[in-house]
Amino acid sequence: MLAKDIAQRYRQITQSVAHACAQVQRSPDDVLLLAVSKTHPADNVLATYTAGARDFGENYVQEGVEKIEVFDELQPDNQAVWHFIGPLQSNKTRPVAEYFDWVHAVDRLKIAQRLSEQRPASRTPLNVCIQVNIDDQASKSGCTPVDAVELALQIVALPNLNLRGLMAIPAPIDAQADETVQRAPFIALRTLFERIKQQLPAEHAARFDTLSMGMSDDYAQAIAAGSTMVRIGTAIFGARQYPQ
Ligand SMILES: *Cc1c(COP(=O)(O)O)cnc(C)c1O
Repeated sequence: MLAKDIAQRYRQITQSVAHACAQVQRSPDDVLLLAVSKTHPADNVLATYTAGARDFGENYVQEGVEKIEVFDELQPDNQAVWHFIGPLQSNKTRPVAEYFDWVHAVDRLKIAQRLSEQRPASRTPLNVCIQVNIDDQASKSGCTPVDAVELALQIVALPNLNLRGLMAIPAPIDAQADETVQRAPFIALRTLFERIKQQLPAEHAARFDTLSMGMSDDYAQAIAAGSTMVRIGTAIFGARQYPQ
């Protein structure tokens, strides 16, 4: 896709997100749009950056690190914020701790401990969200809602992490179902978020402010349920092409 087409799609989705906010009496300023650029080159990231995007989501460690390096050359002194949103294996935590600003899919203590240990002292604490398997899908990563409470209390004790909230990837929405059904997993994540926030020590509760939920096909329902970060890939960059 041409840079101008990507920029145009980015602006369109920004408007659609603002519209989804207005429909439920929320301010568009309360929902951050993450441009999910996995499988797409740094040039495409730059097209959205030029159109105003600042937050970018990556799923794969190697691809993400290379893209950040290329992007930094294309756009020196940039204000980009990089979010690692994919599943993370414990032997790949170091480059993520070094290159990224956020990690959305922390689902066990071992990963959190390694990220905290490997976060360079020169950088601010790494922002993290706990990924919760909110609708109990057998195939999905993420901890159980019960384990998320315990994990949150453990993460806030780690020095180089900043626990920001929860993330989930519910099963694809059923277009035939009514809105109550479509919103149910997002509302469940929000309810859990509020429960955890109440249990955190006050200084950590104050920084626990993020519900990372909603993608290209379901962001309106996620926003209606209280999402503060939507992760949008296809609607901006088009379909992904995976290597054979
Ligand atoms: C790929 C991906 C997205 C973006 O999905 P789209 O449907 O293309 O918008 C969002 N979140 C995660 C965790 C992803 O892996």
